[in-house]
Amino acid sequence: MTGGAGFIGSHLSEELLRDGCHVTVVDSLSTGTYANIAALTQNPNYRLIVNSVTDRSLLEPLVAECDAVYHLAAGVGVRLIIEQPVETIETNILGTEAVLKLTAKYHKKVLIASTSEVYGKNTNVPFREDDDSVFGATTKSRWSYACSKAIDEFLALAYNREKGLPVVIARLFNTVGPRQTGRYGMVVPNLVRQALRGQPLTVYGDGQQSRCFTHVRDSIRCQRALMSEPRAIGQIFNLGSQQEVTIEQVARRTIELTESVSEIQYIPYEEAYEAGFEDMRRRVPDTSKVRALLGFAPDSRLDDILRDVIAYFREHPELH
Ligand code: UDP
Repeated sequence: MTGGAGFIGSHLSEELLRDGCHVTVVDSLSTGTYANIAALTQNPNYRLIVNSVTDRSLLEPLVAECDAVYHLAAGVGVRLIIEQPVETIETNILGTEAVLKLTAKYHKKVLIASTSEVYGKNTNVPFREDDDSVFGATTKSRWSYACSKAIDEFLALAYNREKGLPVVIARLFNTVGPRQTGRYGMVVPNLVRQALRGQPLTVYGDGQQSRCFTHVRDSIRCQRALMSEPRAIGQIFNLGSQQEVTIEQVARRTIELTESVSEIQYIPYEEAYEAGFEDMRRRVPDTSKVRALLGFAPDSRLDDILRDVIAYFREHPELH
């Protein structure tokens, strides 16, 4: 697993180990943390290698010996790509290239974690997997994240068609849950931490932009099922909840569930990110494809997610 010390990868590792798998993680610990996987390192079936995923000579023997690869390593989130564009673009493109080259060479099944960002500014919700990607100008850094992940998808599909690589692409929609950090700007951990500290909850823009927040537990269940489903090979799947909520609603509900004294503070986008920042107004997945194949799809409810994230930050006061 690449990126296995990150928020999603640490949960996925835990589940795989619980089922008796051996897990080898390659993670640069740039956004992943040792704290995420500290408990796993005691397990004799777990191995962590701290290295960049772009290092092909390091990856080669690991890919050769494994049964399957989860490729989760990527620059995470919109804030990081604005602050560190070179590193993020290179990790996303060169890392995936290395993983695809090697999994093709050794003919190993691979799941590529992609993102709902690839739909970009498309306003035609809910998004189906074959809907258009609509990106803004290349001068707006935000779109480099979507573009880099779109290139990853093109390359993965090309390897499948041209070289028979057994690859599955999962487009993850706003995955949230315990261990996600607010450090890279993600809204749910940010708002929960602010509410617990009694600080104003920062809602960007008018707060009417919407998302479908997906519990990491749900997303992982689908990722694992896709990995073991031969009919998923060569295809793209949306993995996301169907419950559309505005960011303002998330902030209000966070205040209620934490019983916080905090209030909401509206912050203009150009102050929160950069001048000319473009956000997407609505982001909603059509999950009929994954539902038809697996018989289920992520079905998380916002309240369950918020309760789990609140409990996590309460258990780890050092993090907020
Ligand atoms: N957002 C917000 N307050 C924050 C962080 C984010 O209002 O403290 C907004 C952000 O502008 C976006 C939404 O919440 O409209 C989701 O942001 P996130 O970075 O979590 O994920 P995105 O959907 O942008 O990938």
